[in-house]
Amino acid sequence: MKIHGLQKMTLLDFPGKVACTVFLGGCDYRCPFCHNYELVDGSAPPVMDDTELLAFLEKRTGLLDGVAFTGGEPCLHPGLPGLIRKIRELGFAVKLDTNGCHPDMLAHLLEERLIDYTAMDIKNSPGKYAVTVGLESIDLTPVMESVRILKQGTADFEFRTTVVAEFHTEKDFEEMGPILAGAPRYFLQKFTDRDSVPFGNLHAPTNGEMRRYLEIAQQFVPSAELRGVDL
Ligand code: SF4
Repeated sequence: MKIHGLQKMTLLDFPGKVACTVFLGGCDYRCPFCHNYELVDGSAPPVMDDTELLAFLEKRTGLLDGVAFTGGEPCLHPGLPGLIRKIRELGFAVKLDTNGCHPDMLAHLLEERLIDYTAMDIKNSPGKYAVTVGLESIDLTPVMESVRILKQGTADFEFRTTVVAEFHTEKDFEEMGPILAGAPRYFLQKFTDRDSVPFGNLHAPTNGEMRRYLEIAQQFVPSAELRGVDL
């Protein structure tokens, strides 16, 4: 399997773990606010393969305790369960970031107890999901199935939303509420602009808007929090 990026150590990506972050290429979506678009459109060359990743991890046993898979969309890769199995044999915990488009892969990973923590994006209210992920139309059935699978509680998880001024309103959070309800954790993170973001003219919401969205979200997930927002 091709690995498109490796952050050798992070204290932020995997709650409670000293982890490395593995970036895999490809994605079902084309979110206009994506921070990793070079992974999505295939313009980023691979940096190593899975054999080299495992060799790196063997040297980090005792120094790192987790591996976070992100992308792009890791669940697009049929080789993911096999790679994670080998990583777990080395003693690492595994976190998965996912857009929720591949419930069969998610269910397989959970059934085999290959992942310890999942962070799934809930991009927006159903009526604005397609535009938020950069598609003309979308069938949300797979996303809702992933939501259902995670809520069964086989492993710990969070839902999260990157909030963009141009895409999100109070009404959207009210409509997202029933999807979010029942999650142990929900994080709202503010969009931040970067050179790698594919579309210009997107903006972060104000802190006041973030506070209001949080209040709405807490009606459905009482433990909901803002992430990376300095109020
Ligand atoms: S789902 Fe994530 S990786 Fe894929 S385009 Fe959207 S922000 Fe980028």
